[in-house]
Amino acid sequence: MTPPVVAGSSDTTGASKVLGLRDFHPFEAFGARFLYMVPSAGIFRMDDCGSAILDALEGGPRTEDDLVAELNDRFDIDRILETVEELTEIRAVGGPDAPKDEAPNDLPPADFPLNTMVLNVTNKCNLACTYCYEYGEDKIVDTQYGSQPKFMSEDTAEESVEFLLRQSGSQPKAHLTFFGGETLLNFPVLQKTVAYARRRAAEESKTISFSLTTNATLLKPEIIQWLADNDVGVTVSIDGPKPVQDGLRVFHNGRGTYDVVLPKIKELIATHRSRPIGARVTLTQKHLNVLEIYRHLTDELGFREVGLAPVTTQEHRDYAITPDSKDSMLEQFEELAAEWLEHALRDEHHGFTNVTDTIEEIHKGVSKAYGCGAGLGLLGVATDGDVSLCHRFAGSPEHTIGSVADGVDREKQEKFLVDHHIAEKTDCHTCWARPICSGGCYHEAHVQYGDSSHANLHYCTWVRSWTHTCLEIYGALAEKNPKFLERFDA
Ligand code: SF4
Ligand code: SF4
Repeated sequence: MTPPVVAGSSDTTGASKVLGLRDFHPFEAFGARFLYMVPSAGIFRMDDCGSAILDALEGGPRTEDDLVAELNDRFDIDRILETVEELTEIRAVGGPDAPKDEAPNDLPPADFPLNTMVLNVTNKCNLACTYCYEYGEDKIVDTQYGSQPKFMSEDTAEESVEFLLRQSGSQPKAHLTFFGGETLLNFPVLQKTVAYARRRAAEESKTISFSLTTNATLLKPEIIQWLADNDVGVTVSIDGPKPVQDGLRVFHNGRGTYDVVLPKIKELIATHRSRPIGARVTLTQKHLNVLEIYRHLTDELGFREVGLAPVTTQEHRDYAITPDSKDSMLEQFEELAAEWLEHALRDEHHGFTNVTDTIEEIHKGVSKAYGCGAGLGLLGVATDGDVSLCHRFAGSPEHTIGSVADGVDREKQEKFLVDHHIAEKTDCHTCWARPICSGGCYHEAHVQYGDSSHANLHYCTWVRSWTHTCLEIYGALAEKNPKFLERFDA
């Protein structure tokens, strides 16, 4: 956050420079004006002189002399020139013909470290959720009748750990997360893998952390105790109150799961105190009362963190969220975001992780060349040990880039990195939200367009509105409680 500074400027002929606005997104908080720079993702607070210059240039490019003439009844000349210089330095203004700033399109280095590996310890599930991307109508891998084993073996899991430790390079930390199917169907392998990984990481002088996602139906006291004792982070897939949960998250015989998971989740939350237990909600057209869902999961069930994501599916499905409903969903997200801000201004926790995650990215100045870390710092491993972009692509031959036994096929990985780079997403090149979005999730794109490298253009309005809301929250905290933002420094 830097206030504009000062200095004069002219071209080499001594003629007054013509200046115009460059690529940024303005936002306000508590009356202060900020610029979110694109593509650098820097954030700058404008003072009154900076704001006046930007207002003047909104009418179109003009010379520095014209700017001075227009503004010198409000600011002295030195201040105007110095502020123009500062705005030029941060690239908020510049010659109207200056080439557009683009993020460098270099590929990440070949030895880019792997931070997170997602092990699909099983592709079998004891539920039959209608919208499931693995078993439902939009599945990309035949997990039911395909060639992949239903369960990952202990050997493959250990080989995966070795792969992770190797690929994490000189990084002192690595993260292993377990996924399914229903992860707990392969609990014995999961347990052995945690013990093995911990021992092997210590031998390599690394630390390793663990997490898993579960539908909670198979939780029982000894599993819960083991998760707590082993400090395994737990995310529960759950969609909300009984009518919501039982609508789509059902057993194979169609029976709802709410009554089964409720006591298990309560016990998990009561027992596992070392890490916050998170809920992961899939929103569908059938149940879009975001506020009710959020309140139920936090106030009644006791989840400390709740993240909500719209279902990934093709638009013609009856549970796909319609454009009108996306607006209502956004309004409710904004209401929760306002609540998040109120809490943050009082230094209090609020569990709506959709805001927390975006604020963290804004604070860290994240400017993405890729929609997410998949295929690079994050990889998914299928039950047979094939390595794919992420857990959602595990087992898809089209998205497999190696195996834990033979390593990553660098040629395939490089092709993926070239094809999915923001430089290839021409629709995104004029979008101010690209440092945060960068085209979005590859799996969503694959389901929508049949092409994981396609930009998720069906979500642009949503992404831009949401990013703007989070920028305003960030600005509000920068104005009124900047200390709160320090928690995102780590
Ligand atoms: S997908 Fe849409 S919102 Fe995202 S960067 Fe591209 S144009 Fe912007
Ligand atoms: S591709 Fe999508 S599902 Fe996979 S890690 Fe990225 S954001 Fe997540």
